[in-house]
Amino acid sequence: MINRIDLRGMDLRSANLDVRTLVPRAEFDIEAAVETVRPICEDVRHRGEAALIEYGERFDGVRLRSLRVSADAIAQALTGLDPQIRAALEESIRRARKVHTDQKRRDVQTVVVPGGMVTERWVPIRRAGLYVPGGLAVLPSSVVMNVIPAQVAGVEQIAVASPPQREFGGLPHPTILAACALLGVEEVYAVGGAQAIAMFAYGSGPGETGCRPVDIVTGPGNIYVAAAKRLLKGRIGIDTEAGPTEIAILADLSADPGHVAADLISQAEHDPMAAAVLVTDSPALIEAVDLELENRVAATKHRERITQALGGRQSALILVDDLEAGLAVVDGYAAEHLEIQTSNARVWAGRVRNAGAIFVGPYSPVSLGDYCAGSNHVLPTGGCACHSSGLSVQSFLKGIHIVEYNEPALAEVAPHVVTLANAEDLPAHGEAVLARRQPEQPAPAAA
Ligand code: NAD
Repeated sequence: MINRIDLRGMDLRSANLDVRTLVPRAEFDIEAAVETVRPICEDVRHRGEAALIEYGERFDGVRLRSLRVSADAIAQALTGLDPQIRAALEESIRRARKVHTDQKRRDVQTVVVPGGMVTERWVPIRRAGLYVPGGLAVLPSSVVMNVIPAQVAGVEQIAVASPPQREFGGLPHPTILAACALLGVEEVYAVGGAQAIAMFAYGSGPGETGCRPVDIVTGPGNIYVAAAKRLLKGRIGIDTEAGPTEIAILADLSADPGHVAADLISQAEHDPMAAAVLVTDSPALIEAVDLELENRVAATKHRERITQALGGRQSALILVDDLEAGLAVVDGYAAEHLEIQTSNARVWAGRVRNAGAIFVGPYSPVSLGDYCAGSNHVLPTGGCACHSSGLSVQSFLKGIHIVEYNEPALAEVAPHVVTLANAEDLPAHGEAVLARRQPEQPAPAAA
């Protein structure tokens, strides 16, 4: 069912070796998806709400009269919420709030010289559009993961979009609405996919129930959502390209093959494009995991989707000479989720440079992080973990440098500013500093 790749004997730490060609991602990549979503985004830009209603009908099978979800519908969803789901959501919210509150950045003030000061002030972004998936699976957990860091950062206006569901009369899934109610979010739209990202970027037109443009869009989604974020980045801020899920596991013979297989399957369950990769130095573990996969997939609810994900070219069981080589592979691959199931797992985890999030040891499966670890589950995919972080409070803050020098402090450094301005052939820069020079005092008259 799943590819096997044998990298033994290769110098995996060589600078010339591109791990991402050895361990490829899905065939239909984000660049191809950008071309698919470009006309959708342009259409929303020009026709606003009318285009959004048409795309809802085409992609979600629902013709809506209003994109904005009413306050009554949100309140009713909370009333009808199963108490056990409510308790689980509340625990997820509690843990996420605890972790994210601790991670808020403080302003930093540096006295460069007496009288010369630079402060870095962190200011919340004013208006954020948060995307919550609702295609193959509906993810109320993504409401928590988006809203908590935005609230902790102090974002003033929070709008949520999630695909309309035909079986719920065109509203987003009731558990998504209930999660919004639990978090006090009142502005919710029944819009999914690339068109939701375009709505956030351009707005949906005038009117009380129209969506006004946002400053930043965050949240996970399928390849079309991730592609729209890439396309519209610049017009709006984005968190990261949090597209189809990926799990990589670095394991040795000490790992439990049942745990490894269960974790690979858990992420393959999201999307036929999801990637599940095991990297190990143990041929015996590969055999045992392969067998476990055969047995477990057959008994899993979403086996069709899982079989496609595990059978795609993006998933593999990879054999390497040793864990050092394995570390080079997972670092080069830069997975969204990386599990370390080895002896001394914490030591290996400490040496990883590229991963969206790292799950250490036998009792920290990715599913824990998906819901209730307290960490954020909106994470970079497609190799973006080599340059980007997952969603956090920081994603909703902007740093502003505030510069304040007094006259003696400016006078002291003025010759250096003038020299550098002249070196760049920008003499007016230097003159702006010299214009502040005090006129020279006349010498005191001789007695
Ligand atoms: P989704 O809400 O992301 O996408 C559904 C929407 O996709 C539909 O409303 C429709 O508008 C659009 N769409 C479907 N087919 C289309 C087509 N052919 N052309 C244009 N648009 C189309 O829900 P989903 O599909 O279930 O995907 C959720 C994704 O989120 C999964 O891939 C999952 O792995 C991912 N995810 C990622 C993270 C992360 O942090 N990276 C976290 C959670 C989930």
